[in-house]
Amino acid sequence: MKNIVSLLNEFKKIGLTSFDGVTRCVYDENWLAAQKKYMQIASDYGLYTFVDDIGNVYATTEKNLGQKVFILSGSHMDTVINGGPLDGVYGTLASLISIGTLMKKFGHPKIPLVAVSFSEEEGSRFNTAFTGSRYLMNKLEDTVYGLRDHEGLSFNHARQNAVTQLKELASELKATGLIHAFIELHIEQGPILEKKRQDIGIVTDIVGQKKLLIKCYGVANHAGTTPMNMRCDAMKKAVTLIHQLYAVLDEFVALRYTIGQIRVQPNAANVIPSEVDFSLDLRHKSQKRLDDAFTAVKELTELNDSILTIMTDVNAIKLSDQLANNSALAAQYHNSAYQSLISGAGHDAQIIAKYVPTTMIFVPSIKGNSHSPSENTKSEHLVNGQLVLQQALYQLAYI
Ligand SMILES: [Zn+2]
Repeated sequence: MKNIVSLLNEFKKIGLTSFDGVTRCVYDENWLAAQKKYMQIASDYGLYTFVDDIGNVYATTEKNLGQKVFILSGSHMDTVINGGPLDGVYGTLASLISIGTLMKKFGHPKIPLVAVSFSEEEGSRFNTAFTGSRYLMNKLEDTVYGLRDHEGLSFNHARQNAVTQLKELASELKATGLIHAFIELHIEQGPILEKKRQDIGIVTDIVGQKKLLIKCYGVANHAGTTPMNMRCDAMKKAVTLIHQLYAVLDEFVALRYTIGQIRVQPNAANVIPSEVDFSLDLRHKSQKRLDDAFTAVKELTELNDSILTIMTDVNAIKLSDQLANNSALAAQYHNSAYQSLISGAGHDAQIIAKYVPTTMIFVPSIKGNSHSPSENTKSEHLVNGQLVLQQALYQLAYI
């Protein structure tokens, strides 16, 4: 069987872009090819493959999962547009290899193991994210099915077409029993582990996240004939508000905030702007501090006569201490240098952790780069991460 590094090189070719990045959006041609290849590898290991109605693919140690309690491990198969070769697919393939190898070496586990390749996490095609893990947790709203991609194709239409093809190759996953634990292995997507020369990161918390859109209104008019004291300039309002936001948000310890996108209407050099909208991304590991920061933003936008819309709202979550200890033992078993850390990025684990004991294992990202073609991790770290995951699963399922 191939190791994690050579499999990742093969998957990089599925959706390779001319900029040396990877684009696999949920239900597109490349996504479908990747999920099919995942199933093939699972079968080569002698695992049983299943698919559900959202397009999550599972590889299990049991032919009939029935109502048995099981341990789940995996990540997502989709990417951002022109993303890197590791985000999502690393954890997806590593869990498949780990469970396949354990099964070959030790036979059936005491607690069934299930690898999962979630259909979607990034939100890069339809304006919604985590649809794979939300579906598994029975938390996907019906409105998602009506969403359309930029070509006007509905989520439901794209889904039906892709899932039908997957179902030709695997049985349908019926109602499952209880998930005993979830482990997601992922690249760090940040610089900490590399800087501290660690092989493994054990995630204690995933930050909460609020993505806001703030709109400031003015009146479009002639840039030359309208006196300065007779203008209603949306840009001036937005800049004033942004200054105030920076000043207030800097006071929140450990808050990460970003104004990364700004749009101007009508966006002409000789017209006073009639509308300016900008994004504000707020993240904090403490839900209380995140909520406080949000309240401060809300007050400022109201004072400045602007409109605030919440685009994404995910709660901060603490992961399982017990499973973190299990991961630490697995890291020790492989003589890895490890430390705990907080994830500043969102993950499927964040959705699942609300209902199921969950842990995340990180490997270092070179220069902390991610969501771009320069996303990379040393081969030795990729291999070690997979082995630590395998050991963590072994300790949970076989002992
Ligand atoms: Zn990811």
